[in-house]
Amino acid sequence: MTDTLNHYIDGASHTGDSTRTSPVFNPATGAVAKNVRLASVADVDTAVAAATAAFPAWRDTSQAHRQAILYRYRELLNARRNDLADILTAEHGKVTSDARGEVARGIEVVEFALGMPHLVKGDFSENVSTGVDVYTLRQPLGAVAIISPFNFPAMVPMWFFPIAIAAGNTVVLKPSEKDPSAANWMAELFTEAGLPKGVFNVVHGDKESVDALLEHRDVKAVSFVGSTPIAKYIYETASKHGKRVQALGGAKNHMLVLPDADLDLTADAAVNAGFGSAGERCMAISVVVAVEPVADDLIAKITERMRGLKVGDGMRNCDMGPLITEAHRDKVASYIDLAHTDGADVVVDGRGIAVDGEASGFWLGPTLLDKVSTDSAVYKDEIFGPILAIIRVPSFEEGVALINRSPYGNGTAIFTNDGGAARRYQHEVEAGMVGVNVPIPVPVAYHSFGGWKDSAFGDAKAYGPAGIAFYTREKVVTSRWLDPSHGGINLGFPQNQ
Ligand code: NAD
Repeated sequence: MTDTLNHYIDGASHTGDSTRTSPVFNPATGAVAKNVRLASVADVDTAVAAATAAFPAWRDTSQAHRQAILYRYRELLNARRNDLADILTAEHGKVTSDARGEVARGIEVVEFALGMPHLVKGDFSENVSTGVDVYTLRQPLGAVAIISPFNFPAMVPMWFFPIAIAAGNTVVLKPSEKDPSAANWMAELFTEAGLPKGVFNVVHGDKESVDALLEHRDVKAVSFVGSTPIAKYIYETASKHGKRVQALGGAKNHMLVLPDADLDLTADAAVNAGFGSAGERCMAISVVVAVEPVADDLIAKITERMRGLKVGDGMRNCDMGPLITEAHRDKVASYIDLAHTDGADVVVDGRGIAVDGEASGFWLGPTLLDKVSTDSAVYKDEIFGPILAIIRVPSFEEGVALINRSPYGNGTAIFTNDGGAARRYQHEVEAGMVGVNVPIPVPVAYHSFGGWKDSAFGDAKAYGPAGIAFYTREKVVTSRWLDPSHGGINLGFPQNQ
């Protein structure tokens, strides 16, 4: 009998009403490891009702008590981080070192949220008018929804829920149905840390449950991460229903390489950022823009490094694991034929490579394409797999212009030893996160994460100061304690005296 993963509502496993389920694969074997329930509208109602009921008491719980629970959560996470990483490898396929990195970057946000007493401190202006003080309070919103993608089943939810919860909100998380187990593990651990029931709930599901969350009267805010078309839909639908919404979308990240770059460092970075997590990262480098005459030497170095990559089961000390599903693997692989048709050089073809894993896994090896046309779908689409494209340009200016024409603007990087060029690049490039000799510039937890253009909808970034602003609302109090000299009738607009 295959196990079925339940929802986690009101501090306990919950089967819900729906009879619909979806298979969860081990992508390294191709076998169905379990099924996950797909929530009905009624199941979403149950989860939102639990979060709504838990909100008043959690909001009124002292900051000190909330912090104590979060400290315990951080300690438990730290002690069991490798267990969580193993769940990620088993369902997503990413290799152990990568999965542990994901968990570490998530814990970073928990640690940031431990500073909540300082982060929600308000302002105070004394005696703005005679005997009158003005001060601000930052208060939580209520029950909030988080909808997350398959590629970071632990880290992306952790971009949001530690901050939401530490600020006094309650949460309904709807993780990806492709690798759902990490969400239950993280919620159960919070219960163990002493979080009151109903503060952190998990509903599993697909469009039906997402739509129910977007339309639900009692959901006050929506944080979404996923592909661009769905991010746009989430932004529009949640806004229409009066919710505060942040929706982070897909990407096509470019790396500009100038002729003076250290080519060994650059080739290492291109391989790590292009093929890490099988290219299934929103901050993966998918296009190297080589300013001539650098391309041939760079390609030689990248190719040499690719030859040494071991592809296989993430548990077996490999460099790169499988793709998330068979259908996704086939779609990604189809771009190799398309590249050929559209006139690109297929320098390294990742199909049919030898792997350290079961033949039935969802494998595709690292692939390198040169002279990719910007008119080709290989360039235009977010492929989300281990395919790295090289585009050759004659100058820095043409490289920047090409990158700025992309509809996406998530991350980008420049590789150079010229500080002036790097400075000009960071000023001119249209992307939300820029790396200078750093290929995957995911900001640390005390800065905020988010792209520009079609890589994010709304102006609210994730975590850092933007996360605090998103999960709290400001109240301004103007206060005067009784002073008989200020009595009397005056129907004019209040003025400072
Ligand atoms: P996805 O858009 O298919 O799914 C994301 C979430 O939306 C899932 O929970 C899914 O169940 C739900 N969903 C899917 N289709 C829906 C629909 N029609 N209506 C309502 N909800 C729907 O994304 P994915 O394939 O899980 O993840 C990969 C994508 O996420 C890539 O495009 C990647 O670039 C992007 N991503 C972006 C960031 C970022 O920070 N910008 C980070 C990670 C991933």
